[in-house]
Amino acid sequence: MPQDKIKTILVTGGAGYIGSHMCVELLQAGHNVLVLDDLSNSSEKSLQAVERITQKSLSFILGDIRDSELLARVFAENKIDAVLHFAGLKAVGESVAEPIRYYDVNLNGTLKLIEAMTNADCKTLVFSSSATVYGIPETMPIEENTATGAINPYGRSKLMVEQALMDLHESDPSWRIALLRYFNPVGAHASGEIGEDPNDVPNNLMPFISQVAVGRREKLSVFGDDYDTPDGTGVRDYIHVVDLARGHLKALQYLDEAPTLGVFNLGTGNGYSVLEAIKAFEAASGKTIAYEVVDRRAGDAAVSFADPQKAQRELDWRAEYDLARMCEDVWRWQKKHPNGFSD
Ligand code: NAD
Ligand code: UDP
Repeated sequence: MPQDKIKTILVTGGAGYIGSHMCVELLQAGHNVLVLDDLSNSSEKSLQAVERITQKSLSFILGDIRDSELLARVFAENKIDAVLHFAGLKAVGESVAEPIRYYDVNLNGTLKLIEAMTNADCKTLVFSSSATVYGIPETMPIEENTATGAINPYGRSKLMVEQALMDLHESDPSWRIALLRYFNPVGAHASGEIGEDPNDVPNNLMPFISQVAVGRREKLSVFGDDYDTPDGTGVRDYIHVVDLARGHLKALQYLDEAPTLGVFNLGTGNGYSVLEAIKAFEAASGKTIAYEVVDRRAGDAAVSFADPQKAQRELDWRAEYDLARMCEDVWRWQKKHPNGFSD
C-alpha cells in the first residue's frame, strides 16, 4: 500500500453525519478539503466543530449537487484530485412517499456530478452505497457478490448509481471508482463535538436509543421480537463512523494504485440484536432505556451482517471499535449536545 499523497478532495455532503467524520480524518491525514453541501439535512456548525477538532481549516461551498453551473465552477477553480460523494437523501420511509425526489437527488445528482468530473478530467470517485442494496438476502454473512435486490426507492436509487458507475467504468477504464456498501454506521467522534443529529424523530435505532437515554423521548419501540434470531429481535452489523471514515482513506489509497472499479462491504462482520444494542447502551450510559415491543417494521430483514474480508484483503482495512465503544462515543456526543447542533 502506498502512503497517502497529499490531495485536494471534494467531499459532497461533508456537513452531514458521516461526511463530517470523514473531513476530520482527511484533514488529520494532511489533505485539503472542500465541502459541497446544501445543508438540507445538516448544519454548518458540524464543519466549525471539524475545524476545532483538527485545528485545520477547510473550504465550504453552500450548494446543491444538481447545480451543474456551480459544479463546473468548483472544478474550474480548484484542482480536485478525488471526490468522496456522501450527498444524498437516506430515509427509507420518506423514499417510499417521495420516490421522485429521491431519484432526483441520489441518481440525477450523481449523474450531474459525474458529468462535471468528466469535464474536469477528475476521474477518482468514492461512492456512499449501502447494504440496503442487498434487500433481504437469503444467506449470511453478506458477501459483495451476494445477489442485490433493493426493496424500496432509496435502495434502488443506490443500486442505479452503482450500475451507472459500473457502466461508466466499462466505457472508460481510466476511472478509479470505489463503491462502498456501508452496514449500520453509528458512533461519534471521541471528542463528543460531532455526531449524528437527526432533524426529526430518528428512523434509526442508535440515535433513538440515545434520545431516550438523554430524556428527549419516552421510550423506544422495538420493531418485532418474533424474528428467527437468538432473542427474536433484528440483528445488524453496527460499525463505528470513525472506522467507516478510515475505510474511505484506505479506498483512496487503493484507487491510487491503478484505475479500477472496486465494490466493498464496510462492516465489522459481527451482528448484534436490538436487545443487545439496548444493553450495550445502558452499560455505556448508566441509563435505563425504556422500551416496548411493537409490530415488525415493513421491509426489515431479520438479520444483516457483512463478510468484511474483501475490504481486509484488498483495502488493508478492518473495523477496530466494538459496540461498547460505539455506545460510549454516541453517549458522549448526546450528553454534551442533548439537542444536537442546535444547542
Ligand atoms: P446525512 O444526511 O447526515 O448527510 C448527507 C449530507 O448531504 C447532508 O449534509 C445533506 O445536507 C447533504 N445533501 C443532501 N442533498 C444534497 C444536495 N442535493 N446537494 C448537496 N448536499 C446535499 O447522511 P449520512 O448518514 O452522513 O449519509 C451519507 C451518505 O451515506 C448518504 O449518501 C447515505 O445514503 C449513505 N449511507 C448512510 C447510511 C447511514 O445509516 N447513515 C448507511 C448507508 C449509506
Ligand atoms: N429498530 C427498532 N426500533 C427503532 C429503530 C430500529 O427496533 O426505533 C430495529 C430495526 O427493526 C432493525 C434495527 O433496529 O432490526 C436497526 O434498524 P435501523 O433503522 O437503525 O437500521 P436498518 O434497518 O436500516 O438496518
